[in-house]
Amino acid sequence: MKLILKIKSILTALCAVILTISILLTCSVVTHNKSLNSYYNSQIERECYKNIYIYDCNGAPIYTGGFSDDKVLRLSTFHIVGDRNKSITDSLLTSTYPNLNITSVFNGFSPTKKEYNLTIDSNLQKDAYEILSNNAYHGCIVVSDYTSGEIKAMVSTPSVDVYNTEIIEDGAFLNKASLSYPPGSVFKSVTVAAVLEKNPSAKDFKFTCSGKSNHISCFNLTAHGEQDLSDILSNSCNCGVSAFAKKYIAPDYLDLYTENSNILNSSVISDIKIKEGNINANDDLMWAANGQSQNMVTPLGVVSFYNAIANDGSQIQLRLLKTTMESNTSEIMSSTTASFLKNALAGVTQNLGINCSTFGKTGTAELDNAESHAWFVCCLNDGDAPPYTVLVFLEHGGKSSSAKEISREFINNTILSKEDSR
Ligand SMILES: [Zn+2]
Repeated sequence: MKLILKIKSILTALCAVILTISILLTCSVVTHNKSLNSYYNSQIERECYKNIYIYDCNGAPIYTGGFSDDKVLRLSTFHIVGDRNKSITDSLLTSTYPNLNITSVFNGFSPTKKEYNLTIDSNLQKDAYEILSNNAYHGCIVVSDYTSGEIKAMVSTPSVDVYNTEIIEDGAFLNKASLSYPPGSVFKSVTVAAVLEKNPSAKDFKFTCSGKSNHISCFNLTAHGEQDLSDILSNSCNCGVSAFAKKYIAPDYLDLYTENSNILNSSVISDIKIKEGNINANDDLMWAANGQSQNMVTPLGVVSFYNAIANDGSQIQLRLLKTTMESNTSEIMSSTTASFLKNALAGVTQNLGINCSTFGKTGTAELDNAESHAWFVCCLNDGDAPPYTVLVFLEHGGKSSSAKEISREFINNTILSKEDSR
């Protein structure tokens, strides 16, 4: 009997040792797998996302219960779709669509199939991503239909491939279309609209530029000479715009008009909260009028403002999801002001080589200790072209000519050629 008890206690001890070893082994496998699979794959098969289906404006699949096998599509839509770790603040896989009541869908288990149709055209989206990444630019491209507010493309680089997270570049989780940056001269149109809305006869303003006036200077101290208001805009004359603002408006009024024009608005795109912009013209009206000083705007805010110019003063709230809900519309300028801006800004794009009638504005936002940001916003103003505003923002991209070049190539080779083939 004693022997049996002894064997029993030895067996019990052995079992305990085996159990401990197996627990330790399991723990080490889990830890090992975690590090191997990086931070995504642990959740890759989570049930809560299996019933979600996301399509583009033509019904082409973007996310069908799992990420697409098309790598360029995955990368180009990453900042819209998001990931299962909710790394992107304002994406579909994050709970930021309260107006459409889809919070619970993306935030937890969805027992039934849910389908969402975006306003995005995945062909434009992919081409926009490729042109930025092939040229090694960090920044964003936004395309919007100014007659409906629909976003047709919204791409931010660098991006993240959810299936390969070995190397993630700095800033890859940020959607640059929704962050705020100094706008530089793309803001000049806001100043001109603000003045003309208050005083329509100011359209006859004339100014002789010597390259420098008070503490304001033009780019490279270029003396633009005698100009009317259209020339001032198309030459992007800093001295002219600051003299124009100083003559007709007070700083508080420029701040108020800018706020009312929604360019700073964190709700400029429905259902997503983006970064709020900023202006404080009391700090320095003359530079603020030129988009410098403390001005900060989002690329989406700039698109929304230029949409209004192209749409005869009527601004339709931007949107990313196709819905039958009525869009918010604001009249932020008269059709007369819009028409003046369209004609004046056509001077900026006339020799650019874009194969349709356009108007637009460049911006080089100079920074104290870093390469400038390059902006170019361009509206297609031609019955034969789609009614799109196209914005290219290159973070630390240098002069605005870089953004112009990307725009020209993207509009000619993607937007216009795809339109021809339809
Ligand atoms: Zn000038």
